[in-house]
Order: sequence, then C-alpha cells, then structure tokens
Amino acid sequence: MRIQRAYRYRFYPTPEQAEQLARTFGCVRVVYNWGLEERTRAFYDRQQRLYYKDLALALTHLKKTPERAWLGEVSNVALQQALRHLDGAFGNFFSKRAAYPTFKSRRDSVQSASYMRNGFALRDGKLTLAKHDAPLDVRWSRPLPEGAQPSSVTVTRTSAGRYYVSLLVEETMQPLPASSAQIGLDMNTGAIVDSSGGVHRLPRRLVDLEARKRRYQRAQRRKIAAAKVRMGLTPNAPLAKGQRLPVSNNLRKASRKVARVQERIAAIRRDWQHKLTTRIVRENQVIAIEDLAVRGMTASARGTAQQPGRRVRQKAGLNRAVLNAGFAELRRQIEYKAQWAGREVIAIDRWYPSSKRCGACGHVLSKLALSTRRWTCPSCGQLHDRDLNAAKNILAAALAVKAGAAALRIDEPRDAGG
Ligand SMILES: [Zn+2]
Repeated sequence: MRIQRAYRYRFYPTPEQAEQLARTFGCVRVVYNWGLEERTRAFYDRQQRLYYKDLALALTHLKKTPERAWLGEVSNVALQQALRHLDGAFGNFFSKRAAYPTFKSRRDSVQSASYMRNGFALRDGKLTLAKHDAPLDVRWSRPLPEGAQPSSVTVTRTSAGRYYVSLLVEETMQPLPASSAQIGLDMNTGAIVDSSGGVHRLPRRLVDLEARKRRYQRAQRRKIAAAKVRMGLTPNAPLAKGQRLPVSNNLRKASRKVARVQERIAAIRRDWQHKLTTRIVRENQVIAIEDLAVRGMTASARGTAQQPGRRVRQKAGLNRAVLNAGFAELRRQIEYKAQWAGREVIAIDRWYPSSKRCGACGHVLSKLALSTRRWTCPSCGQLHDRDLNAAKNILAAALAVKAGAAALRIDEPRDAGG
C-alpha cells in the first residue's frame, strides 16, 4: 500500500534563518488573508468563484506593485502554498466540513509555511529551504526512509518558540506477517486495560507536568487579572472587541512558561501513544475496541440548562481521564497502523454492556456504579476486575461480530451502556 507519511523533526535556526522564517510566516499570512478577501469580494460583488490558479496569477501582479514588492523577499513557493491551503479551506467549507475560512493573525499560536518540491533541497542529509543560504540545523531523531523524496516540507514555530520541520514522504507499507493473537481494549477509565490483563497507564511524568501546568496557568491568570485592574476593569471582565491588554514582561514570561510546559506534555503524550499503538498493532491480528463517542462523553457531564447533568463531579473526573489519555487519537492511530500492517480493527457498539456483563456466564447486571472497581457475579460467583472483564467482553463481542453473529448486538436503553 502506498501511503503519505509525515516525518517531524526539531531544528534550530540561526538568527538569520529565524529572521527569514519570521518574514516568510508574515508574508504567507498576508497572502492568505489577501486571497480570502479577494475570494469573498469576488463572490459578493460579481457572484464569481475564484480558485487557486486565478489567485496565483493575481499574486504575480500583486508582487509587482510597489506597495507589496516586499513579498518578493520570501520564497514564492511558500506564498503559492498559502493559496493552496486557502483552496483547501474553501473546499472544506463548500463540502460542509468546516466553517467559512477566517483571517490568520500574527497572534495565532502556531506560525507555519509550506514548501512544495521546488521550494527546498534535500541533499546528503541536509535540508535547505528556498531563499536560505545555509541548510537548517535539523535534529534527525529518526531516519527518513532510504531514498525518500519528500513531496513537501512544512516549517512551524510553536508558541513556546520551538521550530519544527515536517517532511511528507510517500512510502510503500508492507503488511506484517500474520499473527494469531487477538486483543480487546477497554478505554473507559484513566488507563487502558487489555483482555490479557495488561494495564497501560500514561507516564507518571505527565501527571506531574499537568500539575505544573495548572500552577503556571494560575500565575498567568493572576497577571492577566492584575493587568485588567490597572486598566480600570474588574478582573473577570471580558475585553471589549478591539481592546488589547498591555502585555507586561512578567505576563509574557508567564505565558511562555505555560506554552512550554504544554508542548512538553504534548510531546510526551504523543511519544507514549505511538509506542503503545505500534506495539498493539504489531502483536495482534485482531484488535477489538469499543466504539466510544469520546466527544459525547466529554461534552455531556455539565448537561444543558434545561437538563443539568447528574453526578457532575464524578463524571467530570472520568471526562478528565478520557481527555488526558487522548482515546480518540489512540483509536485513530490504531486504525491507520492496522491498515498499514494488514490487521483487523473491530469496533463494537458502544451500547453493548461490556462492563456489566459477566464474562464467565453471560449474566448482565442491571446496575454497576462507575466507582465499583471489582464485583462478584451474583449468578456464577466469579470475582471480576471491572476493566479486565470489560476488555474480555469487548474481544468476545468483536469475535462474535466477526463470525457474523449480528444477533449478539444488544439494543438496550441508552443509559445501559458502559
Ligand atoms: Zn457470572
């Protein structure tokens, strides 16, 4: 199977490169916003739809005007790519996948620019961007596939000031040798429990960093409140449209600290997720998961104004755990890696009672509180670890579905799931 895969590396620009990149990010933003304005205006004034090629042509004219001649200081490839991204944003809008595109701001947390093949050179392990006179100092933390010819390169600068380069490479994936192992995964709590008894927890360091992040965020909020008081506002007052908070050095430092710890958390979590999903897919032929609607689970605890959520505190704890572990991302990774490897992922109906069903005799409890971690089956007397029993049930249900037993699907009322 031919796939597109992104390889991301950190790099350290020289002061000159950082300056050139800052200029490029700025010009990319200007061109994107200009294109958005042109397309919106053409539509309202002339009921005309503009596309990439129309704007690319208009861009060459724009660059010749004295007011916008400075656009010529950065790579034209990156500017054209901004127009392609705009095309993509409109495509998503017209197919109802996204809202109408919005203007990009210099205050957006991540700045980026993309270069197609004619906008960079990769030679002898050295990556040089157009309009740069020296290669980037890239930390090649893992090797690119041999003979890789990236089709595009995207450079980003995060809000904590880190630089990354992402190379898109086309690869041929070879299916892994078939395995006879099968596994069920229960992702209902803070940890992932598999049907063979394995418990996969987030690294302890991540929990510590979360605590540190909260401390930094409190400090940041205090400084924002103080700045508002200095402006004569109450600390919690929302800023009026167009009103800007004066950013003191202390506030800038506090924000930088928050951004840094957030990025570290994201990096550790990503690393953990990839290692876990790679291992699960490598070791198992069939992977059974629950078709959890993660978004629904996280949105519902507070309830609506008409129907305040019940057990809010308890659910909030669970929701945090769900968010922390990033189950949606884990599932996404398992699915695409399984596809590459020739493995089978079976998602079972989320209303199947995986926790409340006794895996030994099939008895289904009418109620099982979230806080109950162990229970004894009233029918056969088997003692169950809640999550391990659920993982085994998920695997059993998936295997039954695979065998074509649609009858196993249990349509119970909505609150019966879990
Ligand atoms: Zn039983």
